[in-house]
Amino acid sequence: MKVAGRESVLPELQFLPDPKLVQLSQHLLWGGVWSMRFIEHHLDELRDDYGVKAFDVVVPTHIHDDHTCGIPHLQRHHGTKCWALKEVGHVLADPAAWASTPGLLEKPICIDRWLTDGQRFVWQEFELEIFSAPGQTEFHSVCAAVIDEKKVAFTGDNYFMAEVDDAGETQTQPFEPTVLRNSFQLEMHRRCADLMRKIRPDLICPGHRDLPPCDSDAVDAYCDFIDRKDHVFRQLVAKPANHFIDLFWARLLPYVAVVAENQSLEYRLLLRNNHDRTILYEAQLIPPSGWRTTAQFSALKLEPAGRGELKFKLVSPSKADNVRRLLTAEIKIDGVNQGQICEALVTVRQE
Ligand SMILES: [Zn+2]
Repeated sequence: MKVAGRESVLPELQFLPDPKLVQLSQHLLWGGVWSMRFIEHHLDELRDDYGVKAFDVVVPTHIHDDHTCGIPHLQRHHGTKCWALKEVGHVLADPAAWASTPGLLEKPICIDRWLTDGQRFVWQEFELEIFSAPGQTEFHSVCAAVIDEKKVAFTGDNYFMAEVDDAGETQTQPFEPTVLRNSFQLEMHRRCADLMRKIRPDLICPGHRDLPPCDSDAVDAYCDFIDRKDHVFRQLVAKPANHFIDLFWARLLPYVAVVAENQSLEYRLLLRNNHDRTILYEAQLIPPSGWRTTAQFSALKLEPAGRGELKFKLVSPSKADNVRRLLTAEIKIDGVNQGQICEALVTVRQE
């Protein structure tokens, strides 16, 4: 994808033309190479050029705002329903709580139907399947359906093409984006590879850029990229690799909260064990001054690859200061203090 820049000698419009929908087959319109985010006049294009009369359902592939910012508008003005994979929907429905993951639309999105990993669901004459596909972000799904006799995979931001140098020859190969801040453990991308092998799409519709070539060789190249990336990460970090890769082995919810004076608030500390042995996690919250809590460690034992959570109840100060303040979680692994590993932001506001 070319992007206009300071050195560009060509006009901006050549790089950033008005996005246009692309009709791929009788029942399939795709956002096109330049699809960057929802723009209201695209609804006119759908009506005027393609005879679309209603905007019935939207199924977001993942949580990023370039894919979701039009949903509140569609819900408010067109009665559109939002169906989402559970892992995607719970973030969209409560973005303040999940604001430690980047790229969220601040406005909560009402989820009208919660879908589960591997669920088949029907819309009009089409049967679709949705799968959890933690790729560019942990909170990502891939949708698949047979449309006009082709197996189509809607891959969001999980499957893109890049030019690579292969022994002096430039080749275009598929890759899976890696963004550590979006939450990443090595098995997440292996799951994405397995999923593409399982779907075996005839056509891949990505969230941006060109339609990638799609055949078994292309899917093999995508899976091979993920294998090689796994290998490189393991070379770069100490063991156990996931412990040093995963920025979110501990996550506090809600990340952003605004409360009244003397209000009680419950925090959830989500923990996941990246070690190859059972671990005893102990944690305590360190709130801003004036907050009341039980200042002692709570404990949770997790098996390898296990996930769990600890809950903490706090009461806000009796005097509001309207200042956003930091609250942290201090965590021990098998009795060894790791320090204040994760954080949240809280404001006590005068009512
Ligand atoms: Zn995107």
